[in-house]
Amino acid sequence: DQQCLLTTIEKLDLVKKELDVKKWESNVTIQDLITSSLDKNDRDAFFVADIGVILKQWIKWKKNLPGVTPYYAVKCNPTVGILKVLNALGSSYDCASRTEIETVLNLGVDPTRIIYANPCKQISALKFARAHNVKLMTFDNVSELEKIEKFFPEAELVLRIAPDDSKSLMRFGTKFGVHIEDCFDLLEMAKEMNLKVVGVSFHVGSGCFDSIAYDSALTMVKSVFDMAAKLDMKLNLVDVGGGFSGSNTELFETFTKVIREKTAELFDKDVRIIAEPGRYFAASSHTLAVTVISKRIIKQEDNRQHPRRTSNNMRQYNYYLADGVYGSFNNVQFDHAKPTPILLKPSNKQPTPCTLFGPTCDSIDVIARDTQIPELKIGDWLYFPEMGAYTTASASSFNGFCPPPVYYYCSEVDESAL
Ligand code: PLP
Repeated sequence: DQQCLLTTIEKLDLVKKELDVKKWESNVTIQDLITSSLDKNDRDAFFVADIGVILKQWIKWKKNLPGVTPYYAVKCNPTVGILKVLNALGSSYDCASRTEIETVLNLGVDPTRIIYANPCKQISALKFARAHNVKLMTFDNVSELEKIEKFFPEAELVLRIAPDDSKSLMRFGTKFGVHIEDCFDLLEMAKEMNLKVVGVSFHVGSGCFDSIAYDSALTMVKSVFDMAAKLDMKLNLVDVGGGFSGSNTELFETFTKVIREKTAELFDKDVRIIAEPGRYFAASSHTLAVTVISKRIIKQEDNRQHPRRTSNNMRQYNYYLADGVYGSFNNVQFDHAKPTPILLKPSNKQPTPCTLFGPTCDSIDVIARDTQIPELKIGDWLYFPEMGAYTTASASSFNGFCPPPVYYYCSEVDESAL
């Protein structure tokens, strides 16, 4: 209760203390910062998280989508630092499971600030949501309605529709969302079951690259509002989902302009607009630093090992890094990522062909194949920017290689704009 009386800046200061956040002075480069961490910590890999990035993204969100409440998609990066910083800012949360709901509730978040945005829910999780008064949730099929009728009849339901997701890297339409032709039936069934449908949601797909996706999805939402009106159901919530880029401001401004204009054109003022941004907040906040733990010289033509007899111009290298696709680089497998290695100490050697492997005993553990970087030696460090989204979230400890620790910093931000 006392926390509620604090200002945003005071709440943030408390979080910074808890996370042991260090100030990131503007004259300090990422290379300096990683190098100073190497001296202090005996680690082979670690994240540098800049919470200043999250604060700047928050300010940008408020400027471009002032009427849209962000429900941070916890699945994107459930690191406690991100969750706590967003909580201090007053964010709401999109949770996909009982564990995510529990994590967010444990931060002291009010249940009205959570949407349980997984259209296919476990009964145990539904019961948990009911016990903790997390009422707002998505659905997109009949059996889900039947489950909700039985286990959480007073829930507030958001119908997830399937928009055109062809303009996104990660398409969800094959798994989730009801087709527009089937919406009327589902709404009618919900009404017959005395369930309360409050709104409509969509997700254009993660990594969306064309604003037309939001434009056409919002038109579909409006037609569902009209169907509901025919059934005397009054909807009052539109959830525009995620899909916003974390690093491309131009794209973000284009998408948000479409959302602002289209929602103003199609919906009454009393309709609440929310969103479920994930990578928008997380992607650029984390940089991963990793060391080279082993190295193998191979002959370009036959891929065999000829360390001494292979002339320099016929060599290529296999490097083995301290983190791989079973860990933070699972984004290579699951998120179409092509991580870009940067040498911590710039080299004047010519780039040579190489493959970057992770540390496990599995040959599928490849971070980048046939890339080019100047020759490295064991103990050299590489860093990879833009590693905050869909990285640690699905990292395993396969072979005993545990996810790297996170060191928190805060770059300069005009906090008065928060
Ligand atoms: N909402 C839902 C239901 C999702 O499935 C996802 C991503 O998988 C998100 C939001 C977050 O998407 P993004 O990271 O593209 O913003």
